[in-house]
Amino acid sequence: MQKNCDLLIVGCGFTGSVVARYSADMGKKVHIIERRCHIAGNMYDYVDENGFLVQKYGPHTFHTTNKELYDYILQYGEWEEYKLTCMAQIDGKFTPTPFNFQTIDDFYEKEKAAALKERIAQIYGDAEKTTIVEMLESEDALIKEYADFLFEKDYSLYTAKQWGISPKEIDVSVLKRVPVLFSYKTGYFDDPYQVMPKISFTHFFENMLDNENIKISLNTDARDIIKVKDGILYINGEKAQIPVLYTGACDELLDYKHGILPYRSLRFDLKCENTDSFQDAPVVAYPQAQGYTRITEYTKIPYQKTNGKTVVAVEYPLAYDPYKKAEPYYPILTEKNNAMYQKYRKELDNVENLYLGGRLADFKYYNMDQTLEKAIELSQKICSRF
Ligand SMILES: Cc1cc2nc3c(=O)[nH]c(=O)nc-3n(C[C@H](O)[C@H](O)[C@H](O)COP(=O)(O)OP(=O)(O)OC[C@H]3O[C@@H](n4cnc5c(N)ncnc54)[C@H](O)[C@@H]3O)c2cc1C
Repeated sequence: MQKNCDLLIVGCGFTGSVVARYSADMGKKVHIIERRCHIAGNMYDYVDENGFLVQKYGPHTFHTTNKELYDYILQYGEWEEYKLTCMAQIDGKFTPTPFNFQTIDDFYEKEKAAALKERIAQIYGDAEKTTIVEMLESEDALIKEYADFLFEKDYSLYTAKQWGISPKEIDVSVLKRVPVLFSYKTGYFDDPYQVMPKISFTHFFENMLDNENIKISLNTDARDIIKVKDGILYINGEKAQIPVLYTGACDELLDYKHGILPYRSLRFDLKCENTDSFQDAPVVAYPQAQGYTRITEYTKIPYQKTNGKTVVAVEYPLAYDPYKKAEPYYPILTEKNNAMYQKYRKELDNVENLYLGGRLADFKYYNMDQTLEKAIELSQKICSRF
């Protein structure tokens, strides 16, 4: 393997593919090994038996504030503007998320709704939004009542299911990032570039990987090929002479010697429904439902013709166990877990010829634009040694 290849990459997700293309364009021979039966990592999508484009690992839309990253993706596919809208179903009613003035109208009688909006204007002035945490701490009775309503009917229930804890155990500070809007504005992100591929994410990857210097082996687990022993990297039993980019999990590469890095996993139950529209938005949170958190209607992300049928994915958060079939989705970022990760990372960072990158090896949640930015930096770092 080392004789015919300048760079070995583990994982054909966004990180591995960006680095592969960058190196291939520099004339380097790249071999990617991927244990799944497909390319594109968690961004993989495919056409199902009813002709609908479905995303296997949950709903993805590309959004960024960075024009250079947007220009990067334009090289390998056509994209169209797509602004994701989300809703929550509370007491049987659909209301926009992030919650906005429509939410107040949905759950309050006309006069009280007007009084609450007026109070918000008095207290928050021109502010466009705040966090639920700040509203929960409000000394104003009306605002506090609204915050308690949202917390009890949505945030606490959703967060408890998402992380597998009881609503009482929720540390409200984790909710700081979720805004409550002081207007009728809808839309999940504010970024100037919000797009979906015209064909599919998988097609975008096919274009990116279409280079004579790139070879891909699917259904190939790196653990059968690379090993780290006593701080030395081996490829098929021989000491590594070429760089290896590893985008898998660090604990797995070192046989979990410092423990299993904790994640939250997900299960997506796909269902074909005999209706043109199953729900009022592409992604709807169901905080009060038993077991599941969200439903994604793929015929709305991107918009696809329905003909009396649609397809939905019901999302169940699950415990993660690398020995069972569960996938690692969201790293559980506590101090203790970060300390465990640092032990792995320190050991692997000292291994000659080994490079680490991507959401798994970095034990972080990255949006696609963050993944891309880091992958470009990593490409430059790896290629500077050729
Ligand atoms: C539910 C969900 C929704 C998301 N939605 C969005 C969104 O709307 N917008 C957005 O910007 N971002 C979103 N993201 C984030 C996005 O998925 C990531 O930024 C991106 O996929 C990370 O790419 P990666 O290459 O680092 O990892 P991955 O895509 O996970 O690629 C790593 C690859 O390595 C392979 N691999 C691992 N170990 C081995 C091994 N031992 N041998 C061989 N192969 C191996 C894996 O099979 C995988 O294919 C979402 C994430 C989740 C979980």
